[in-house]
Amino acid sequence: MEVMDQERLLPVVGAGSGGWADGQVPKITSLLIKPASALCNLDCAYCFYLDRESDPYANAPQRFMTLETLERLVDTYLFYSYPNAVFAFQGGEPTLLGLKFYEKLVEFQKQYGRDGQSVSNALQTNGLLIDDAWAELFREYNWLVGLSLDGPEEVHDTYRVNRAGRGSWRRVMQALEVLQRHRVEFNVLCVLSQANVDKPKQLYQFFKSLGVDNIQYIPLSEFFADGTPMPFTITPEQYGRFLCETFELWWPDRRKIRIRFFDNLAEAVAGIKPGSCTLHETCDSYVVVEYNGDVYPCDFFVESRWKLGNILVDSWPEIARRRRRYEFALNKTILHPECQRCEWLSICRRGCPKFRHAPRRNFEDLDYFCPAYKMVYPRVVEPLKKEVERLLRTIPAGACLNPY
Ligand code: SF4
Ligand code: SF4
Repeated sequence: MEVMDQERLLPVVGAGSGGWADGQVPKITSLLIKPASALCNLDCAYCFYLDRESDPYANAPQRFMTLETLERLVDTYLFYSYPNAVFAFQGGEPTLLGLKFYEKLVEFQKQYGRDGQSVSNALQTNGLLIDDAWAELFREYNWLVGLSLDGPEEVHDTYRVNRAGRGSWRRVMQALEVLQRHRVEFNVLCVLSQANVDKPKQLYQFFKSLGVDNIQYIPLSEFFADGTPMPFTITPEQYGRFLCETFELWWPDRRKIRIRFFDNLAEAVAGIKPGSCTLHETCDSYVVVEYNGDVYPCDFFVESRWKLGNILVDSWPEIARRRRRYEFALNKTILHPECQRCEWLSICRRGCPKFRHAPRRNFEDLDYFCPAYKMVYPRVVEPLKKEVERLLRTIPAGACLNPY
């Protein structure tokens, strides 16, 4: 049954459309690769990867990507994605593979890339292993690095601890200094939990004092099986307040500091496809590649029922055309009555299926953070719109803005 369903492919009418209408199968435009699966050298209390019952690899003995799988991945994906390829490495902790693994990656990219092909690499890390040698590789090949840092020491170390319960803040700060010294492009990924969500000013000033100019806030929403929020999960009201206050703090700095949430909203109001999949019409812009080559449609749904195939046996066009990919992509279009009558629908696009599904495991529910969006959109969309209009007036006629 599993095999039969996996074999069902959708017809392709045209190459790489923007939607699923009329048999058009959107191309896979970026990869999120987990070379160490969910393995990590930290033991963060809030990590959704840890002890996840649905993790298909929980009992697998060896969860590191081999060089053979990496080579196959680079070879096939560069061919499929020509002329633009995006490789983003995440975990678990992707640096556990060691620097040599990534040097080999670059070697494969040089070997299999074609003339005129653009290849970009990104890596998200907890920073524990980052030293000069890593920074040199990142700098030499213009990698974008995401560094996890939840704020000042007492805030960060509330949850981001190792197996002995010791905090990781000091080591992360060393990693940040190394990245800055080598002029590596990086952003800070800050998880919003009960430890920091009520401290928007303290967080913003802390990051600004470090010279961080690119920040991504990630709201925590983990639930017990009965639907009650886990202790570190934030409420929608807390998230809404955090975003509204952060917007006021950030607005005077908006030309110097990027905050992903506001950037993505600005892209949406400008009619450019936003960087965040949460604001897309359907869930199909990227796929996850696990350490053994298995492919899934989203990092929050690495579960057997959503497996799309395996790069060692399936081609990328086959994976892109799996019926399960179509079914997953369209979960986002399920219209909750609240969304149907919502004035923000054209921007919000019904939120993120992960936040819809998380409390009661039901894609038809409203996004858990909907009340937050309804607090923040009325405050920020209009100023962002005016700013976008002002910027567009300065762009020469005929310049490409990558519209949908
Ligand atoms: S479920 Fe959420 S995170 Fe996953 S692809 Fe859809 S919008 Fe993105
Ligand atoms: S703000 Fe809420 S009701 Fe409106 S579209 Fe988004 S999730 Fe739906």
